Amino acid sequence: MKLIPRHQAGSAGSGNGQMWLHVRRPNLPWRQASLTECGDVLDDRMPLANRDDVLEQVAAAGMQATTAAGICPACLTAACRWPTFAADPVRAVAREYADRNPRFAAELRALGVLAATHREELDTLLAELADVTDVAEARRRRRR
Ligand SMILES: [Zn+2]
Repeated sequence: MKLIPRHQAGSAGSGNGQMWLHVRRPNLPWRQASLTECGDVLDDRMPLANRDDVLEQVAAAGMQATTAAGICPACLTAACRWPTFAADPVRAVAREYADRNPRFAAELRALGVLAATHREELDTLLAELADVTDVAEARRRRRR
């Protein structure tokens, strides 16, 4: 656990004197990191807690204790709710839809253009990923 004690946290706060540590939102693979879990734009002075450490703290001590350690409650709720792209790409992308992120539509259009200009590469990659999925499914069926 590497959470910074509340008294060492920086200037971000809830408006009632509480100093919060925010959590960096995990990137979608095509996007540069720019937001906290709670939706603030990151800047160099913003105090941040490590996302994995925060989730570890929640598992060990619960939400209330993690908030008491100075973690932004909105970041905490979002970090617990939304997975990383690596863990669950469908839900990670669903978050963008749920958040009505205006950047998301432009990113999807750009990804569509990339897919169209690299059709053969995309089809090969999709076939490889389908094989991986099929292997996993085949193993599951054999165990039954
Ligand atoms: Zn936050």
